Amino acid sequence: MKERLEALRTEALKELEDVQNPQQLNDLRVKYLGKKGALTEILRGMGGLSAEERPVIGQVGNEVRAAIETVIEEKQAVFLQAETEGRLRAETIDVSLPGKQLPAGAVHPLNKVAQEIEDVFIGMGYTIAEGPEVETDFYNFEALNLPKDHPARDMQDSFYITDEILMRTHTSPVQIRTMKAMNGQTPVKVICPGKVYRRDDDDATHSFQFNQIEGLVIGPDIRMSDLKGTLLQFAQEMFGKQTQIRLRPSFFPFTEPSAEVDVTCAQCGGHGCRMCKQTGWLEILGCGMVHPRVLEMGGYDPNEVSGFAFGMGVERIALLKYEIDDIRHFYTNDLRFLSQFVRM
Ligand SMILES: [Zn+2]
Repeated sequence: MKERLEALRTEALKELEDVQNPQQLNDLRVKYLGKKGALTEILRGMGGLSAEERPVIGQVGNEVRAAIETVIEEKQAVFLQAETEGRLRAETIDVSLPGKQLPAGAVHPLNKVAQEIEDVFIGMGYTIAEGPEVETDFYNFEALNLPKDHPARDMQDSFYITDEILMRTHTSPVQIRTMKAMNGQTPVKVICPGKVYRRDDDDATHSFQFNQIEGLVIGPDIRMSDLKGTLLQFAQEMFGKQTQIRLRPSFFPFTEPSAEVDVTCAQCGGHGCRMCKQTGWLEILGCGMVHPRVLEMGGYDPNEVSGFAFGMGVERIALLKYEIDDIRHFYTNDLRFLSQFVRM
């Protein structure tokens, strides 16, 4: 029996030498020291031994067990250390590695131009007024001197929701809303930026939705010369100090007299080029003195106060400023186009 125990020790220690991982180690522990293990199996035969032999064999059995356990514990310590080192290696953070670069966004060119226009007028003491994009026929047309049978309504084919409600075709209704809110008080000095909607087919210069900025000034003794000076100041801040403007007579139902405003072409300095179609001038906005009927509709007495108004398309200003040839670039969100404005 003693020989069998010695043989078991030799075999166990030999097998333990080659153990590769904690799983194998555990398997060997079960195999030799477990309840149904080899050592228990041998010692179960002790019942047949004499009283003298029993303690001797018992001691040998304990020695064998202790020897195997010692080796198992040593191996376990080695595995534990290897695991700790491995985890430390895997969880190391190299702070010298370059980080992932996130692409920087940019303000959309239309918003950028709108903000620039707003800034120019805020600098002249204007405040910003806003109104709903879904308007009543009264604010969008009637109060602006465009009664139901007015032929100029055809000029702006509209998206009607009901007979009386439509998507606003211009930001002019905000002028009426502002006047009514002021309740006859002066001065009024606002710009009204916002989206407007018309039933246009999209092409290089038209869109069913675009952005306008309108301005309105009302007070005692406001004159056409005030309007002209304001627009010259605006044009020079927007397109450069050398910019000149000219007013051409025009017609709008809500202003009288009315004019269209051109600026000298920044590309050629007014000498004529492809961009200005050789004229040296570029049209940028419409304007005029507020029509007496519109003043009345807004709650003012045209005999006591006067005013001017102007309106421009943000897309048009952006096209001219950045020399872009197609407004569809503004809406199709092609990053190759938009990314050009990142650092502008
Ligand atoms: Zn030109």
